Amino acid sequence: MGSAEGIFGRLREKDEVAWTAMVTCYVQNARPKEALETFERMQRAGFAIDEVSLVGAISAAAQLGTGKWAHWVRDVAERVGIVEDNVVVGSAMIDMYGKCGFIDEAYAVFNSMKERNVYSYSAMISGLAAHGRAGEAINMFQEMVGKTSIEPNWVTFIGLLTACSHARKVEEGRYYFSLMKDEYNITPSDDHYVCVVDLLGRAGLMEEALDFVKAMPIEPCAGVWGALLGACRIHRNTTIAQIAANRLFELEPNGVGNYVLLSNIYASAGMWSEVSDVRKLMRERGLKKTPSTSWLETKDGRAHQFFAGDNRHPRSREIKDALEEILRRLKDDGYKPVLSSIVYDVDDDEKERILKGHSEKLAVAFGVLMTEVGEMIRIMKNLRMCEDCHVVMRMVSKVMRREIVVRDNMRFHHFQNGECSCGGFW
Ligand SMILES: [Zn+2]
Ligand SMILES: [Zn+2]
Repeated sequence: MGSAEGIFGRLREKDEVAWTAMVTCYVQNARPKEALETFERMQRAGFAIDEVSLVGAISAAAQLGTGKWAHWVRDVAERVGIVEDNVVVGSAMIDMYGKCGFIDEAYAVFNSMKERNVYSYSAMISGLAAHGRAGEAINMFQEMVGKTSIEPNWVTFIGLLTACSHARKVEEGRYYFSLMKDEYNITPSDDHYVCVVDLLGRAGLMEEALDFVKAMPIEPCAGVWGALLGACRIHRNTTIAQIAANRLFELEPNGVGNYVLLSNIYASAGMWSEVSDVRKLMRERGLKKTPSTSWLETKDGRAHQFFAGDNRHPRSREIKDALEEILRRLKDDGYKPVLSSIVYDVDDDEKERILKGHSEKLAVAFGVLMTEVGEMIRIMKNLRMCEDCHVVMRMVSKVMRREIVVRDNMRFHHFQNGECSCGGFW
């Protein structure tokens, strides 16, 4: 990337091709901010925007995941006049909106397109799946195979199987997995196996999930064992957790998340000596927990970052007071802190104090300060939400009457009127 920047800087005459190549390079190297800045400069310099540069900018906005850039790119595309008529741009835009948490906007783009292909449908199905709208994802697939001549590909099935797994539609998931192999001759890849293990595991069919992994015709990848370990957390299965974790420790010796997950599973079963064994292993291997952090995007497009227990935000005092007030109102409505979310062996007051400092709670309190009743609060989080934060988000959506969208490292949670789109399984 450094060499590319050097050459680009020295070019005396930069044409569309050079600018576009730079945008694409940044996207491919996961540097979305620079990609968008380059795209903006290219436009300001008066160069024509075409499909390739636009798709680069759209992918960058998808990587960034914020509303501000997503809407900006959409405006540019509309000014240039290539959304409805260009199936490549349209499909990329559906994917972008899905990844940025605007599923209704993704739908609007889908509906406005004059022509659709397998990418448009797959992006829509995956988007709906990530937002917990499994029924619509399945209907979309049925429409695609029933009413069009478009053949699904392996990506389509990842979206479809994800939808089934998030909605715990075990029978449907099994059916589509066979359909993919038998009807469409698609050889399952790692990603499909991950989906099936996740499907069985979430539904609590732990033994079956383990047997499925053992019978796989290819060597199970880390993702497969990770899905199994994740299911063990939901269903508190310490025996299978140990099997999955041991394989993961071999495949990803530095994967901090696996150690943390296993120690959480032991902790919630009260197996404190096993917890300290896992901690010891982490210390020996020099591994540290990734700090948990949340971002909140305000209406003016600014991102505010929060760390657990931190006072760094300029309005920190006000935010903490707002959080206290919100929690007091939730308690009137029956909220009890989920103390088992804290996996340290400390007393209950201390657990409650730690829970209050979780980064997404600070973010949501700030969100309440910055919005009116009926408005939406958007939060991004780098790790999985704990059970207590999930309860708080659910209740804030009802008591404070806000719609809340949280994107964690896996999926979107839409909290509305006391309910979450994930149905309590995540
Ligand atoms: Zn939490
Ligand atoms: Zn949820």
